[in-house]
Amino acid sequence: MKILLIGSGGREHALAWKLSQSPFVDSIFACPGNGGTAEVHKCKNVNIAATKNFELMVAFAVHNGIDLVIPGPEQPLVDGIETAFRKVGIPVFGPSMRAARMEGSKAFSKDFMSRHSIPTARYKTFSEAQFKEATEHVQSCGYKVVLKASGLAAGKGVLIPESTQEAVQGLREILVDKVFGDAGSDVVIEEYLSGPELSVLAFSDGYTIVPLPAAQDHKRIGEGDLGPNTGGMGAYSPAPVATPDVMQQILTKALKPTIDGMRREGFPFVGLLFTGFMLTESGPKVLEYNVRFGDPETEALMLLLDDDTDLAAVILACVEHRLDAVELKIRPGYAVSVVLASQGYPGAYSKGKLIEIGKVPSNVTVFHAGTTASDGGLLTSGGRVLVVSSYAPTLREALDSAYSAIKNVTFEGTVFRTDIAHRALSAGRT
Ligand code: ATP
Repeated sequence: MKILLIGSGGREHALAWKLSQSPFVDSIFACPGNGGTAEVHKCKNVNIAATKNFELMVAFAVHNGIDLVIPGPEQPLVDGIETAFRKVGIPVFGPSMRAARMEGSKAFSKDFMSRHSIPTARYKTFSEAQFKEATEHVQSCGYKVVLKASGLAAGKGVLIPESTQEAVQGLREILVDKVFGDAGSDVVIEEYLSGPELSVLAFSDGYTIVPLPAAQDHKRIGEGDLGPNTGGMGAYSPAPVATPDVMQQILTKALKPTIDGMRREGFPFVGLLFTGFMLTESGPKVLEYNVRFGDPETEALMLLLDDDTDLAAVILACVEHRLDAVELKIRPGYAVSVVLASQGYPGAYSKGKLIEIGKVPSNVTVFHAGTTASDGGLLTSGGRVLVVSSYAPTLREALDSAYSAIKNVTFEGTVFRTDIAHRALSAGRT
């Protein structure tokens, strides 16, 4: 099987790494890939522009006999990559443009949850023409609110105002000043919830849904969850707050109704559904859907897949609607991923710094995120540069291995968090 893998982050390196272990996989083309995918056995980087309608990618795939396309990021899915390849008979592991609205429009996904009684925060949606009505709503609703630009805003479109005055100001920024551009043409005003957060990544073929162990990520740049939001500074799995009872509730009250509801409404979900939950006092509530693998959750989760679990076979079973016939085996133990970022990230950061990766323990894999191979060696080329990931029987051992490996990975101005998995450790888990 020949695979076209789209994206250039740590997530794509981790997917290429796991896919390359499959005896079914002959070759992987990472488009554009990074310094890490270039080194993966059977994998080659190709640089094809993502034109409107994806003509160049489709032409490449047809010419090279690609059997399966795996998009990493959300944008191509929201832009309709699945349709473009379906037209030439090449399956895409990812939802149709209609189904991708579950991530591309928060207004759409909230209405969907409401129609299917999927537990989520109370909400109301307002358009840019309704600034006055939206303002009246935050002044009268009687609960603390969260403001969400409805469209894709690179993880930055959520505001948590501390007062009604701040909420009105936030509404002005989104609807009037358009600080998130068209992503803020509609705003979802949601009830503020509190509790631990969980990410649940699940494979689906449109009928069956198979979750991976729950993960927790670390969005803020600074230790203790302080400072600006990032794409994610680290993750670990399984998260101990995801007890069997919690996972059962998540499956029966949220994941299954989502997959069944999408199919019955005529936009079945095939791909990887990533659902963000808040574990509230009244049970797990859905915060958001993402229609693709998460980063850096994927880097940890790929290490939790058993050696006998063939990722390519699982993905193929999803696109062929026979996921029920495949067994997904998970290793006991824990996996963690720690992001090494460039100085300045998530703001402006420098590029082109030489990276040196020394010897790391055998249970550690260093996935590349923002790296480029050059004649002078491996160079930094992104905000998130490397994702040091490890697997061990205990969480403590997994963390110790990752942090000891980091001592042998260097580039100028490295920034990383030393407190990945602090929530599990402070709850007494080792
Ligand atoms: P991502 O960065 O995952 O793409 P996003 O911008 O799509 O995020 P959400 O996941 O909906 O948006 O929200 C981002 C963060 O804001 C959540 O991880 C959570 O910490 C906080 N948040 C969202 N909704 C609520 C809520 N109703 N109550 C409290 N906090 C919330």
